[in-house]
Amino acid sequence: MKKEITIIGAGLVGSLLSIYLAKRGYKITMYERRPDMRKASISAGKSINLALSDRGIKALEEVGIMDEIKKIAIPMHGRQMHIADGNTPYLAYGQEGQFINSVSRGDLNKRLMDLAEAHGVTIHFNKKCNSIDWNNNSITFEDAETNEISVVHFELAFGSDGAYAASRHTHQMQHDRFQYSQYYIDFGYKELTIPPGENGEFLLDKHALHIWPRGNYMLIALPNTDASFTCTLFFPFEGRVSFKALDSREKVREFFDKTFTDASSLMPTLEEDFFQNPTSALVTVKCFPWVRDDKFALIGDAAHAIVPFFGQGMNCGFEDCSVLNSLVDKHEDNWELILQEYQYLRKPDADAIAELALNNFIEMRDKVADPKFLLQKKIEARFTAKYPDKWLPAYSQVTFSPHIRYSQALINGSRQEAIMQQVMTLPGIEEKWDSPEVEKMILDKLN
Ligand SMILES: Cc1cc2nc3c(=O)[nH]c(=O)nc-3n(C[C@H](O)[C@H](O)[C@H](O)COP(=O)(O)OP(=O)(O)OC[C@H]3O[C@@H](n4cnc5c(N)ncnc54)[C@H](O)[C@@H]3O)c2cc1C
Repeated sequence: MKKEITIIGAGLVGSLLSIYLAKRGYKITMYERRPDMRKASISAGKSINLALSDRGIKALEEVGIMDEIKKIAIPMHGRQMHIADGNTPYLAYGQEGQFINSVSRGDLNKRLMDLAEAHGVTIHFNKKCNSIDWNNNSITFEDAETNEISVVHFELAFGSDGAYAASRHTHQMQHDRFQYSQYYIDFGYKELTIPPGENGEFLLDKHALHIWPRGNYMLIALPNTDASFTCTLFFPFEGRVSFKALDSREKVREFFDKTFTDASSLMPTLEEDFFQNPTSALVTVKCFPWVRDDKFALIGDAAHAIVPFFGQGMNCGFEDCSVLNSLVDKHEDNWELILQEYQYLRKPDADAIAELALNNFIEMRDKVADPKFLLQKKIEARFTAKYPDKWLPAYSQVTFSPHIRYSQALINGSRQEAIMQQVMTLPGIEEKWDSPEVEKMILDKLN
């Protein structure tokens, strides 16, 4: 007999997980704290756009829904930088034909819920998990509208209730030697908007992820299917230049006019957006163990929340589902074995992408504006084109190579960075970047 499965949190990862398991014939019930975002007049939640890349795509293809999701995705082939001096250099993400996809979080979540229900999954909304009783295998939910408490028994439960998971909290509270860390960076984020032009056109290149790197902070913009862009300002909470310091409409507009000049002119609702939209924190959460015997596992952000600078949080959560699914095949529904191997396989990869994501903040907000960094990327791209089996840039390993584990990409990337640091110190590198000498130096160091 297959176990009945309970999933806490019908976000991106919980919904995808439910589709994987329903397709295997499991009976699935999901409990979601929020109301049904598909019903009119209810907001779809955070209006963030997400970059969907190959790891996420692989998982969506495995459950046969990528064609559906493609309809709401906009390909982004590279980064369009908007440098403070007015220059707009462009950096392709990978080789010809490689791209990441801008997808609305709300739309993606709605489609996943529709597909989950189409596969027989039952979703209960307004049900907030309060606690789990591990002795009796029961979960207590509170109804968000009526405050009514209900107790649900479970055989196998997944905690996919996000970065601040209640399921993780209750798992942690009743577990000896539970490892836990949370790390907030000193930067928060706020969403802003560039609306479509007068004739409904995109006002920036729609096939790029736009970045305004400004040293220790940045603005980014991703395209939406309605021709608008969702912008995100990653900015210090406190200090001379900070969210706290921009405390009036005049200061906000003046700061944007001066700092993000070309973007500011495209943001008629900047002041309203700035003061109406929340300033949110960015956290990295690490914990272990993720599982309990054969009856519980954390998955997605609940197991490993990361900062968004590599565009991998959701992709990593989707990869969790794919790995878990392959283990169900391997261990033929023996959940004790499946869950044990799942956590030992995924924990090092989750730790690695957490580190890569933190490092990428510095690259995005600062280095991409540095001509020397752009030259380094040009040298790497040339070398990759010539020796594709010897050198794949770290970004490509993470973003376009689902067969390379995050933990391996971290090791490979560190080694390559050490080589490139030496290459970049060659006298006259600006002139001889594409010379046989540089090529030979990289080959020698690789050997
Ligand atoms: C600014 C920003 C930009 C990002 N950009 C990208 C990107 O470009 N690419 C990418 O791959 N990732 C990105 N991410 C990360 C991505 O959003 C997360 O990794 C992803 O949403 C994780 O999915 P999840 O289902 O695990 O958690 P969530 O999406 O947080 O879903 C959790 C669900 O559980 C529900 N819930 C919470 N508590 C309870 C409870 N007590 N009881 C019942 N239900 C509950 C919530 O309402 C929610 O529906 C970004 C994140 C941020 C903050």
